[in-house]
Amino acid sequence: MTDTTSAFPAGTILGYPRIGRRRELKRAVEAHWAGTVDEAALEATAAELRRATRERLAALGLGRDDSSIPESFSFYDQVLDAAAAVGALPERFAHLREADGTVGLAAYFTAARGAGELAPLELTKWFDTNYHYLVPEIGPETTFALSTDRFARQVAEARAEGFVTRPVVVGPVTLLALAKATDAAPDGFRPLDRLAELLPVYVELLASLRAAGAEWVQLDEPALVSESLPVSADELAEAAARAYAVLGGGADRPEILVAAPYAQLSIAAWAALAAAPIEALSVDLTRGSVPSPVEGLSDKVLVGGVVDGRNVWRGDQESAWQKLEDLSALGAQAVAAGTSTSLQHVPHDVADEPDLEPRLVSWLAFADQKVAQVVTLARGLVEGHGAIARQLAEASVALADRQSAPGVRDGAVRTRAATLTADARDRADYDARLAAQEAALGLPVLPTTTIGSFPQTADIRRLRGQHDRGEITTAEYEQLLRLEITAVIGLQEELGLDVLVHGEAERNDMVQYFAENLDGFAVTRNGWVQSYGSRATRPSILWGDVSRPAPITVRWAEFAQSLTERPVKGMLTGPVTILAWSFVRDDQPLAETADQVALALRDEIADLEAAGIGIVQVDEPALRELLPLKAADQPAYLDWSVGSFRLATAGAATATQVHTHLCYSEFAVVIDAIAALDADVTSIEAARSRGEVITDIAESGFSHGVGPGVYDIHSPRVPSVSEVADLLRRAVDELPLRQVWVNPDCGLKTRAYPETVASLQNVVEATRLVREGIEVTV
Ligand code: GLN
Ligand code: ZN
Repeated sequence: MTDTTSAFPAGTILGYPRIGRRRELKRAVEAHWAGTVDEAALEATAAELRRATRERLAALGLGRDDSSIPESFSFYDQVLDAAAAVGALPERFAHLREADGTVGLAAYFTAARGAGELAPLELTKWFDTNYHYLVPEIGPETTFALSTDRFARQVAEARAEGFVTRPVVVGPVTLLALAKATDAAPDGFRPLDRLAELLPVYVELLASLRAAGAEWVQLDEPALVSESLPVSADELAEAAARAYAVLGGGADRPEILVAAPYAQLSIAAWAALAAAPIEALSVDLTRGSVPSPVEGLSDKVLVGGVVDGRNVWRGDQESAWQKLEDLSALGAQAVAAGTSTSLQHVPHDVADEPDLEPRLVSWLAFADQKVAQVVTLARGLVEGHGAIARQLAEASVALADRQSAPGVRDGAVRTRAATLTADARDRADYDARLAAQEAALGLPVLPTTTIGSFPQTADIRRLRGQHDRGEITTAEYEQLLRLEITAVIGLQEELGLDVLVHGEAERNDMVQYFAENLDGFAVTRNGWVQSYGSRATRPSILWGDVSRPAPITVRWAEFAQSLTERPVKGMLTGPVTILAWSFVRDDQPLAETADQVALALRDEIADLEAAGIGIVQVDEPALRELLPLKAADQPAYLDWSVGSFRLATAGAATATQVHTHLCYSEFAVVIDAIAALDADVTSIEAARSRGEVITDIAESGFSHGVGPGVYDIHSPRVPSVSEVADLLRRAVDELPLRQVWVNPDCGLKTRAYPETVASLQNVVEATRLVREGIEVTV
């Protein structure tokens, strides 16, 4: 226990965007990687960003010296930060450490990005968000030791500027629960088995933060809300009990706030943390509800995560207040207002959006507006509801205005969704479709195709920029796109691919492109959100009922088809992915919104068919990632997500071949859902696992067409003919021949032409060899 106790502030946020309002961190970090900015200059830029963040948060009303400002900066990823701090980097990066054994930027960035033969840590989804973290690798051989003073230095840096901030570190249970075993680990080893050895390093870390001037520390433990991890919720709760008994008992430590964002804490974890010798606990009251009374709260502060850290809506502030009142009823020592999660998932500031309609803006809250909401609620906690009644009422007025504004509810869209026929989601039997499609398309065995996009060259991106800025006319821009499509079709014919694509040169992004062309969406100018490392995306805002004012993709597909005798696939993004990669309205179930998007896509498919397109691909790479963290919520999700895909595609004629593409290989997890999509052909990632997914598919009895990716498009490496042929033979050995399609793992937009051409040549050649082998043996 600490000897001096400092009160927890009445309001706080769990974290703040770190990329900078103009993505300054991205530019600095990428310049450092390119060798044009040295380490000292990069550190200076980062320090300046942290300084600007603290000043901004103070200006928005968080206290300068009461620990309400989180110290949540990261150069790349918060999980890597924690792993680096405790020295848990795999052996292969050991030589990159500093002379004294600490982890500096060289080891840190190489672990994140790899270098030559040194594979980086794996990137994967952070809970059910669009953020990706780096997966630590931990084995019996991992030695834990405090390996950087970066966290402490940031606390000291803030102190020197007159701030007392609260460092934010991923907690020990979550760090281990998200880690994977190293290759050296024996079967059955789990990183969580190393908890006891890890804890002393956290104790040391906390002491170093205290010594640097931190009065509070925030340990993030989102693993305690998840039911989707390999470790069970009960085991995680038990680990948390052990971990916080040790950390709470550490000498000279700051007060400890444990944060449990993203969903409801498991009952066991709630009880364990309430009983633990920590001082404060933050719960997510947007995705979770106020937990039941439990022993041990009387000496703890409860932070109510009532301001949603994951959406961009101003929301219902009266109801946020009400949740804080309900939380107070649990008998904790004090209640504070907070965000449900870090604000790293939302853009910086809605005041930075000059192009958005003022009325829409009045309904929105980005990070800075959410900070102001927390500050208001905190004032209410201190001064009483009366002191903030006016602000709460203003938010209610905005909410009411949103409910009644034109476009939010569109009668025609609603009537159509409400009057769907019972068979609106069903196509003809698969056998009938297969026969009709074989007759219509006349494809060879092992048909070859690609996932849709061809390289988005610097030229294409420059043209789009010029068009956006009005430097070239739309007619000029579109003429250049037609030239690009002509080249891409020519190339595919020359390569000898069977099913062609137009290459998606007109799309900036597979979701934003549709958002820009559908009613009900708004597009931001500066609304960047970190996706991983230096990468950020600009999700669109889905604010109203969705409809399609005019065909979107049809003229490009039609033009491409006019250039070739071979079938050209129409390319659409599916409803689940459009929702997953946008900021979606929160005033109706996702299922309803998904059906509206589906109906717009259904019309697009009908128009594609009318234009002579015989194959349509509806991409759903996000199907798996939206899967809820709680097992109990998963069936309902799979039901509506699959239902929306079927609604989008079931209008297609029996002879029209519907493809879908999924971007991951965890086929087993959602196999029933994939089968239920009822697509005629599904392409899926397979190359990185050397085709293991093929066995899953075969064992599942999946009977429709399937294209396990034959090479990994995530690196410029060109696969050899024999490598591709081996994967293909594995597919042909394990699956009925007529099921197998040949395609890369994913779209080619991030690749350059030289490796793309070389890789596809090898794919076509490998397919020829395997086809010949089959004819000989049949
Ligand atoms: N059709 C898209 C492309 O090729 C699919 C990308 C994806 O699934 N992420 O780029
Ligand atoms: Zn993909």
